[in-house]
Amino acid sequence: MNNRLAFPEATGIAHLRFANAFASLPAAFYTRLAPTPLPAPYLVAASEQAAQLIGLAPPACASEDFIQTFSGNRAAADSQSLAAVYSGHQFGVWAGQLGDGRAILLGDVAASDGGRLELQLKGSGATPYSRMGDGRAVLRSSIREYLCSEAMAALGIPTSRALSVIGSDQLAMRERPETTAVVTRMAPSFVRFGSFEHWYYNNRREELKTLADHVIAGFYPELQAASNPYQALLAEVTRRTAQLMAQWQAVGFMHGVMNTDNMSILGLTLDYGPFGFMEAYDPGHICNHTDQQGRYAYARQPQIGHWNCFALGQALLPLIGSVEETEAALGNYQAIYGAKLDELLHAKLGLASRQPDDDKLLDAMFALMQGSHVDFTLFFRRLGNLRLDGSGGDEALRDLFIDRAAFDAWALQYRARLKLENSQDRSRKLAMDASNPKYVLRNYLAQTAIERAQEKDFSEVRKLQQILENPFDEQPQHARYAELPPDWARGLEVSCSS
Ligand code: AMP
Ligand code: MG
Repeated sequence: MNNRLAFPEATGIAHLRFANAFASLPAAFYTRLAPTPLPAPYLVAASEQAAQLIGLAPPACASEDFIQTFSGNRAAADSQSLAAVYSGHQFGVWAGQLGDGRAILLGDVAASDGGRLELQLKGSGATPYSRMGDGRAVLRSSIREYLCSEAMAALGIPTSRALSVIGSDQLAMRERPETTAVVTRMAPSFVRFGSFEHWYYNNRREELKTLADHVIAGFYPELQAASNPYQALLAEVTRRTAQLMAQWQAVGFMHGVMNTDNMSILGLTLDYGPFGFMEAYDPGHICNHTDQQGRYAYARQPQIGHWNCFALGQALLPLIGSVEETEAALGNYQAIYGAKLDELLHAKLGLASRQPDDDKLLDAMFALMQGSHVDFTLFFRRLGNLRLDGSGGDEALRDLFIDRAAFDAWALQYRARLKLENSQDRSRKLAMDASNPKYVLRNYLAQTAIERAQEKDFSEVRKLQQILENPFDEQPQHARYAELPPDWARGLEVSCSS
């Protein structure tokens, strides 16, 4: 995870050299346009770790140059900015053309890992794909995207990154008027499953092939040698998506809007909206208030990930050539997901080996957690303190359960299972603490930081981001950020409004 190679010579915005590989695609793929200026912009927060990925030193992130560039007010040199077209299935229904309705791609720049990263402004004004929208993003949702992108990266989960949030007093109308902001996102590519669906459903085979070739050449060059590169592309995206779903489940992350236009062709977590982290464990939990049917409930995410891969498969079918080959590429999803989840859950429980009855132990654990509405993050973190000889360590863990007797019975089985592989308390705790984060972006933490920011105090956004940069560390001075949510947080609702 430590890819903090700082470029010695590059410190400021002037050093960023923009190219735009996406702009080399035919004109039908996008509309060239400049961001709409953001009145009187100010820095809300910038991620030093994200900045380092593109060779920007921390002082550069506070400069006027930075603020003007990443508010969209000053065109970066060589930037060929554009908004891309895509389509998608929303809540399982074909929605037709969507596109970057409020995002503008500035271009791509050199990254410290030797590759390139695209920089995209989100909330930078209307585009030809805005439909009824105003092209803006409110400060609330911009802070949520910023904090969660960086938090997920620190958890080791593939994601788009967030470089900065730049605010303005300009208002946008949502349920009520709210101030606006621009987030700068970074990813090698923002191409979505829906980018492919767009050409498929418009019967534009030529463009479909052009897009697939662009993605393979740019991001999956090793697949060019495959006998059927398009089938190989689908298989690889399916693999990454299955693994991503397992990583989401293992940390209790709920995306909230897993529409095909929000699914990254690189297997990254993309388009943070009404996401949430599981608190009181309930597999049926729906984090998005707008999702009344619970299509994107926690327990359904893996299945929806599969459904979305099928949607991508349908779109790639004309290139792959046959239903059989397409189905073959999709066929390993469940096995890959299952194997990855199994690996992650074993790590979360500190189990180094596989035993035939492990599934029973896990099922019993989740049933207990659900019955007692146990906090997902606290449970796993505290589980690491349990001692094999029963000499303590589990008081705080036990306190999470309403049914203590049932927990005791389970803990007996768990200890027996640990003894079976001759587990050692100290090394197991170390390993478990590296798998079970102490700090996640709980909704109420985000909400507290947002409310302060709405009063122009950005210190809590910055502090929270720094705490979440090291989610596995104890950070005793910040222990209250790992506590159960307060009572007022129960009424918090997040919706698609952003
Ligand atoms: P989302 O649900 O945020 O992934 O957005 C779905 C589609 O609506 C995308 O094409 C977005 O670009 C577009 N969209 C969302 N909010 C706005 C807005 N305020 N202005 C313009 N387009 C928007
Ligand atoms: Mg989206």
